Amino acid sequence: MTSEIREALAQFDLACGVYDFECEELEMLKYPQRIIEIAFPVRMDDGSFRVIQGYRVQHSDVRGPYKGGLRFHPEIDLDEMKALAFWMTIKCAVADIPYGGAKGGIKVDTKKVSKGELERITRAYTRHIAEFIGPEKDIPAPDMYTNPQIMAWVMDEYSHIVGHNTPAAVTGKPLEIGGSLGRDTATAQGGYYVLEMLFRELKIKAADMTFAVQGFGNAGMNMAKILASHKLKVAAVSDSTAGIYNPKGLEIEKLITYKQKNGKLAGFPGAKTITNEELLELPVKVLIPAALESVITDVNVDKIKANIIMELANGPIVMSACQKLHKRGVLVVPDVLANSGGVIVSYFEWVQNLRHFYWDMAKVQDHLKVQLAKAFADVWQTAKKYDVNMRTGAYIVALGKITKALNVRGT
Ligand code: NAD
Repeated sequence: MTSEIREALAQFDLACGVYDFECEELEMLKYPQRIIEIAFPVRMDDGSFRVIQGYRVQHSDVRGPYKGGLRFHPEIDLDEMKALAFWMTIKCAVADIPYGGAKGGIKVDTKKVSKGELERITRAYTRHIAEFIGPEKDIPAPDMYTNPQIMAWVMDEYSHIVGHNTPAAVTGKPLEIGGSLGRDTATAQGGYYVLEMLFRELKIKAADMTFAVQGFGNAGMNMAKILASHKLKVAAVSDSTAGIYNPKGLEIEKLITYKQKNGKLAGFPGAKTITNEELLELPVKVLIPAALESVITDVNVDKIKANIIMELANGPIVMSACQKLHKRGVLVVPDVLANSGGVIVSYFEWVQNLRHFYWDMAKVQDHLKVQLAKAFADVWQTAKKYDVNMRTGAYIVALGKITKALNVRGT
């Protein structure tokens, strides 16, 4: 068992230890309902065949169709997928959207394949999982190293298989084929709304804060951009190649232009280069991990100086480290709340696809804010009521809703 799934189950047990859900069936959440593990051959540009491995883990559909991202990464494994799928079940319940949880992945390094190879890999994967996905079954979305173009290929391949245009089979699509306004920035925008609510609760002025963001992709780059657009000081950002630090604040637009031109942050002129490990230990007020899982562990937790950590990535802090942070008074905004803006706007996209009626940006943002305000208030008040950290508060909220669904459905 890898650390992520151990973490997920330990978080589950912790919440069950605080609150007695009186529901035997809840035990079901310890196991995914279905695991799809596949391998398929793909013709590469040089004429050779390569065998590619892929997964789709469907954790729970108790509250609605399975929903979760599709990750392309050379080091993914089944246990990681199981944990990510479990977290999606919890996240959708916290956000109170009518979905269960799933996660998919393909073992591939997107930096080492051509666009044509990437398309063939994506289409082959879609063909292999097609019978298990669809608007009423399981709706994939982007995650690490996947993007709207990849979602378009999934949607197109799936539509060919079922014989008609089916935009609601996947979210995070380009606007031209049924994507939603605001989906591209939704994860970060939602995170920003949550931060605003938190600062209000804590009576903190955002202008007094300094931020460090790990990861400069969909979640991290957009977060840095939104913070900078509110004239807040982002002192450090990083991608897989380097961390960039300037205690006086970075010019985010310049970093985005540099990353777009060079494909990496390494080599950015006029700022100090640091490692990803150093970024986590910087003297900033708010730390935002927005890349990989398990980056804050027992090894580095004592060196963390931030007062607030917002988990824009899924599972960036291991549980034991999180408990140490809580004891030290460091406030951790858990992933299942902090990054739920992405799946909330995915839900809006799906609704628009099913209705064939599209919303303007103001409507997307207003609905996102309302949904998150309710989720934040539920988590905040539950954490206070049971004197637990926000993660356990979020799990109590989510498991409470899942319990009600299980009880009313019956066995
Ligand atoms: P992405 O592929 O757009 O970007 C990932 C970023 O992480 C890149 O900048 C990459 O260089 C960086 N990175 C990779 N390895 C790293 C390392 N070892 N150290 C530091 N940085 C590294 O992915 P994304 O969609 O932004 O996803 C990032 C995280 O946010 C993941 O945990 C994902 O599950 C989570 N998330 C994403 C969404 C979404 O809508 N995209 C929604 C919810 C949660």
